[in-house]
Amino acid sequence: MATIKKNIWTLFYMIFFIGIIILSIVIFFLSLDIQKKYKYEQENITKISANSVNSVFLQYEMILNILGNELTLNNNYKSKKNSQEILDNLNKLNPSIIGFFLYKPNGEAYLTNSTVDISKLRNLLKSEETKEVFKYTLNSDKMIIGRTFFIEQFNDFIIPIRKTIRDKENKVIAVMSAGIDLKSGFDFFLKNQNSGSIHETFLFRDFDYYFQIAQHIHSKNKEIYNHSIPKEIIDNSLQRVSLLYNTSIKDIKENALITTIKSNDKRNVLASNIYIKDYNIWLVTQTPLKNMYNEIYTKSATLIALFFIVFSLIYYLFRYINNYEKTKQELLYYQATHDDLTHLHNRLYLTKEFSSLDKQKPFSLFFIDMDNFKSINDNYGHINGDLVLKEVSKRLLLLINKKDILVRYSGDEFILISSTINKQDLENLASGIIEKLSMPFYIKQYEFRLGASIGISLFPNDGDTFDEIKRYADIALYEAKKDKNTYQIFEKSIKEKYLKKSLIERELKTALEKNEIYMMYQPQINKDGTLYGVEALVRWENKNLGFVPPDIFIPIAENSGMMRDLGLFIIDKSLDEIEKLQKNLDFKFQLSINISVKQFMEKDFYENLFNSINIHKSIKTDITLEVTENVFIEDLEFIVGLLNRLKKHNIKISLDDFGTGYSSLSLLKRLPIDELKIDKSFVDDILTDKDSLSMVENIISIGKKQNMTVLAEGVESIEQKDLLQISGCDLFQGYYYSKPLKIIDLESYINKSINIKS
Ligand code: C2E
Ligand code: CA
Ligand code: CA
Repeated sequence: MATIKKNIWTLFYMIFFIGIIILSIVIFFLSLDIQKKYKYEQENITKISANSVNSVFLQYEMILNILGNELTLNNNYKSKKNSQEILDNLNKLNPSIIGFFLYKPNGEAYLTNSTVDISKLRNLLKSEETKEVFKYTLNSDKMIIGRTFFIEQFNDFIIPIRKTIRDKENKVIAVMSAGIDLKSGFDFFLKNQNSGSIHETFLFRDFDYYFQIAQHIHSKNKEIYNHSIPKEIIDNSLQRVSLLYNTSIKDIKENALITTIKSNDKRNVLASNIYIKDYNIWLVTQTPLKNMYNEIYTKSATLIALFFIVFSLIYYLFRYINNYEKTKQELLYYQATHDDLTHLHNRLYLTKEFSSLDKQKPFSLFFIDMDNFKSINDNYGHINGDLVLKEVSKRLLLLINKKDILVRYSGDEFILISSTINKQDLENLASGIIEKLSMPFYIKQYEFRLGASIGISLFPNDGDTFDEIKRYADIALYEAKKDKNTYQIFEKSIKEKYLKKSLIERELKTALEKNEIYMMYQPQINKDGTLYGVEALVRWENKNLGFVPPDIFIPIAENSGMMRDLGLFIIDKSLDEIEKLQKNLDFKFQLSINISVKQFMEKDFYENLFNSINIHKSIKTDITLEVTENVFIEDLEFIVGLLNRLKKHNIKISLDDFGTGYSSLSLLKRLPIDELKIDKSFVDDILTDKDSLSMVENIISIGKKQNMTVLAEGVESIEQKDLLQISGCDLFQGYYYSKPLKIIDLESYINKSINIKS
């Protein structure tokens, strides 16, 4: 679950990261694009402006050329009257020119068109503002543009233009001058500036860096044309341009290169420059960088916003998938850790939750096992069994605390993990559970009475791993199961018993291989003292455990699946030894073999028995199988069938420990039993206890009525033997005659008894 969760978010972060990278790249290129666009646009404007400025000046230069031509034609300039007429005509034709002037080379004005008061005109060579340019004009063939100035009379700015008229020897005859009204002469240019364009264009002279046209500024400051731009600003800019375009300033001027730079001063503008060579002026178009940056910011912001909107959607999609996965996982986890039938937690949950007990508070573990549940499944079907289990889980849930964990461990086994640890509380809870589960279950038309056995262990008292705690509860349960419908709290002695049992179980596994198991035979005696037969009794001598009595290891063998092999060995060994002995002695006697209930119920018991008997064909004796009454708890039909089959082959059946177990008179009538074995416990007390005597008498009379032989075991004295004989007992077995004997000792025992007889 965690990995999927982690993976999906890793994927998300990866996509997000890649998205951020792509976004950055897009923004980067977008900003480049906008900058390019601004530059391109501005350079276009610069180019167009430069072209128009150039052509306007060219147009005025043509006018001056016409003036010059007309003045020199027929030496018109020599006649003041003619000259005056030419000036006036031209002035009329060009309303954007406020006046025409003719200056002598010494700077003195000598003729103007008639609208101008000549007396007001200064000597251009003497005036500080015009001196240098006038000199320059005298030395040049080109039209030279003078410094822009303001005339109060017209309330406007005037741009003076000047050009020399020369004679054939190229000597300056006069200097023509005209004043261009800035507003009308450059209206296209100014209009452009006023139409709300973000671009600002101005012209300044290369000669002395005085502004030629700077409408933006002059509308606020009329004095602008009286100041030059500081030389270091221009030099600095030109240097940067030259560096940026990797070309000389001379080339830039010569080739009329359009260059664009970002100003590095407080103007903060993008400035494009071009040099208009013919008139020695720089044209500069500039835009506040703010505009460009604003566009970059707004477009980037839009992109970023869009990006985050898209990513919010992707985020929600991922969250949705994640939640969906989570609920799916949770459902799967629920299904995996819960029992379908009862909806309680299951075994997997237990192993997962309690894999480590590091942080667990003390708790108690109840191993609850229903008593006799199997019979419901067997006799009423699983559907009814399931309904009972559901009811069991309901009853249990009613008894436990909210925080306690109830687990259906398997079949009819439940585990309760409870915070109850106090002994008294534990006992109360356990008896409460037993009481509740002993109450009848009403399922459909049936009424079932069950009950439960409980084993309880405590953490951390009994152990520090969950497996240990569970195992001890299981061991305690095993103890409780012996009595049924009761509980057992785990304690040390149980553990020791259990450990002993496990040790026995472990050793027993290899006992046959190691030849630790052998047989002993206890004689069974007729009324007249002659030998009737022997009972084969198994013995186990272990290196570590010493002598282990059969009534200890036989049940262990039964419960750990070793009884089959052990049983085969017992039958085989007894038959083998007795066959040989009978051959040796040439003497026939009966052989009794104890058969445990589990062994008796094995499917192939009958076949195995006869395999063995067939191997020892030469055996002449009768064989009796001793089984305890408890065998009748098992499948009766199967038993009756088996007994009848054995009977057909002359195998006798003896009921061992008769009177201590489960059998009834009616049962005895139905079964082909040959012999009843009165249990030693009755024989022990027969001389002292009337009840025991009457029990023995009862058994004998039952046996007689059913035509059965009656054998008394555990006969230790002649008094016991006599009393049993008077009561009608047929056969005797016990220490009074002989303890169980090894085969070799049995041989001498029989030899002796034959000798005594003969
Ligand atoms: P069981 O079948 O009732 O066997 C009789 C037990 O009483 C034997 O104990 C025997 O030694 C003992 N015994 C006989 N006469 C006297 C007596 O006069 N006084 C005293 N105090 N004891 C007497 P053992 O051999 O220890 O066997 C105990 C139980 O183990 C047997 O009870 C039987 O249930 C089981 N067992 C023994 N051998 C086998 C076997 O080969 N197969 C199976 N399935 N069970 C066996
Ligand atoms: Ca026996
Ligand atoms: Ca017995």
